[in-house]
Amino acid sequence: MRMETQDTGKGYHDLLIFVGGKHYPTIQSFLDEANQMGISRRLHKLPHGVIAGKSTAYLAHEQKTKCVRCNGSGQLKQAVKTREIPVEYQGDTLIVEEFSIICPDCQGKGHKKNPVIFASYIIPGLRIYINKLPPGITDINSMDAKLYALHRSRYRSDKGFDLNTAKNNKEDRQLIQDLKITAVILNRGKAKPKQEEEHGG
Ligand SMILES: [Zn+2]
Repeated sequence: MRMETQDTGKGYHDLLIFVGGKHYPTIQSFLDEANQMGISRRLHKLPHGVIAGKSTAYLAHEQKTKCVRCNGSGQLKQAVKTREIPVEYQGDTLIVEEFSIICPDCQGKGHKKNPVIFASYIIPGLRIYINKLPPGITDINSMDAKLYALHRSRYRSDKGFDLNTAKNNKEDRQLIQDLKITAVILNRGKAKPKQEEEHGG
């Protein structure tokens, strides 16, 4: 998967992701997977400067356009004038040499690929999958739900979870910020999502 980062000037980079090719035959297949797993889980590691919860991911496909500079040939003709050593009685002789160079705009390809952005979203942070929320917690995006999810992932059990105790645990609240837990996903009856999966390309 080809990516480019761009400095936003706000302390983080945005991410331009080129979608297509062998891994994602259709845009929908990419979006389905991104929705299900989250982009940061799909990437082995976020590129330098890209911060979950802040950076925007722009999804783009590449549109081929003919290179204007070389008119699609991939080469530029250049002429240089060289001055030969004067030959007696003939004066200077100007020699015009014409040769081709590889077009620097398209690197000789004759076309350029321009990104066409079709979707964008804030890159989510760590997502925790749980099967259900305990009684008393209804909002899946609340700090309460995150505290519960953190407890679940830590102990793999509901045992010992007390919301009031959890709420007073400053370290856990800080950890949720540090881990950038941005979403708790209800995983009702579905198979456990695959762990880190890397896509080359
Ligand atoms: Zn060109």
